[in-house]
Amino acid sequence: MCGVFGIFGHPEAANMAYLGLHALQHRGQEAAGIVSSDGEKLFAHRAMGLVQAGFTPRDLAGLPGDRAIGHVRYSTAGGSHIKNAQPFAVDYARGSIALAHNGNLTNYESLRDRLEARGSIFQSTSDTEVIVHLIAMSTHMAVEDRIADALNQVEGAFSVLFLTERELVAARDPHGFRPLCLGKLTHGGGVAHVVASEPTSFELIGAEYVRDIAPGEVLIIGADGPRSVFPFPEHKPKPCIFEYVYFARPDSALGGASVYEVRKALGERLAKEEPIAGSRDDTVVIPVPDSGVPAAVGFARASGLPFEMGLIRSHYVGRTFIEPQQSIRHFGVRLKLSPNRAVIEGKRVVIVDDSIVRGTTSRKIVKMLRDAGAREVHVRISSPPTRWPCYYGINTPTRDELIAATSSIEETRDYLLCDSLGYLSLEGLASSVAQIRTPGKLPVVKDAVNSHCHACFSGDYAVPVSTRKSPSQRPRLVSAG
Ligand code: 5GP
Ligand code: SF4
Ligand code: MG
Repeated sequence: MCGVFGIFGHPEAANMAYLGLHALQHRGQEAAGIVSSDGEKLFAHRAMGLVQAGFTPRDLAGLPGDRAIGHVRYSTAGGSHIKNAQPFAVDYARGSIALAHNGNLTNYESLRDRLEARGSIFQSTSDTEVIVHLIAMSTHMAVEDRIADALNQVEGAFSVLFLTERELVAARDPHGFRPLCLGKLTHGGGVAHVVASEPTSFELIGAEYVRDIAPGEVLIIGADGPRSVFPFPEHKPKPCIFEYVYFARPDSALGGASVYEVRKALGERLAKEEPIAGSRDDTVVIPVPDSGVPAAVGFARASGLPFEMGLIRSHYVGRTFIEPQQSIRHFGVRLKLSPNRAVIEGKRVVIVDDSIVRGTTSRKIVKMLRDAGAREVHVRISSPPTRWPCYYGINTPTRDELIAATSSIEETRDYLLCDSLGYLSLEGLASSVAQIRTPGKLPVVKDAVNSHCHACFSGDYAVPVSTRKSPSQRPRLVSAG
């Protein structure tokens, strides 16, 4: 998963991009980059790590111009390298172009084979680079036509920003897997147009949210303002339902719906689907912070149980640390989460989290709660079991590492060492999202389920993944935008 930000028509474009990326930092912490333009040339700076670590005032001063695009990249196992940091910027026969991509291209392997057979030389192991080569090879003249030509050959998920000397182009794939929205920022010299993965970045720079960029839309922002074209064959939109569950920031709105309100509704629905049986007097609902908090608020409210902060999260955990000794068990989780004995001891604890991936963290949390005196521990998850990998830009592990793919719910409960385990149904998830998206309208469950991607829960992939014949010949794809 990654985050993208773009701005056109602001005298401090690079500074605005820096702030915009800051508010998208939850979407990627491995690398950050900005490319700006003064209308004649492109200027680039990329660095590993967090935005604030990678950009000094001097770096920002080296990014002149009134337009810029930026990217934050999500960490992947072993694939961390500056050459995969974005935005990519290249010179080709007709000028320069930079691009920043969120999503994963499902036909990357076969496209790369084809391009390499024709002589293209790749510099990264990122799927995004095929877009660069396809644009450079296009026989069309206008840059927007070259972009449309290239994007018509890729499959899968892309919310992608392009910057040329003259224009900023934002494109969202016809399924709209990953979010992308448009805003505007009024300043002394006029109006700047902004595009970003989530409206959180508009809030920070004082920009106003205008609308989501539609699935299949290509928005071209030039000196005359924005205009849209729809150059792709139409598909049923499939925005990622997991953005609502986990990925987006809770103060974001996606598809017009507050992510926080959706998460609370998921918790409320979960309380109805998987209620806590038995005595209520000594029962508390606690979230796994931060991602489980809104769902726990909803769960507590719907079940009439007290909500307490039973786990305290440290905000000072770096991304890398050394495990000191084998004897200090659960160190990794303890560094981040600390049990709050005052609310746990002697209680029946209902712990609410958004999802279980491998189950390793959840198991450690259950153990930690028992060690802190919890009498019973009941785990409630505000999404269905994650049984399938994501091929559209979220870095879920392979099936054999997903606990719900290899174990039944009872086996998972046994592994987590909890007294009961309950997940939200897919119908419950989809209709809660639909309810918040269109308040006052009772969703038809089938429509609600069909109008989002939920492949990681259902295995129902809207775009199949094409695999290469000889995967061992080349380094594996390491980018997950
Ligand atoms: P587990 O128990 O599977 O080891 O970890 C579950 C935790 O991972 C949950 O708290 C959930 O918020 C978090 N999680 C879910 N999906 C992702 C993801 O794609 N990336 C990361 N870093 N964490 C995730
Ligand atoms: Fe989102 Fe899951 Fe679909 Fe990936 S598979 S796009 S995480 S809903
Ligand atoms: Mg979490």
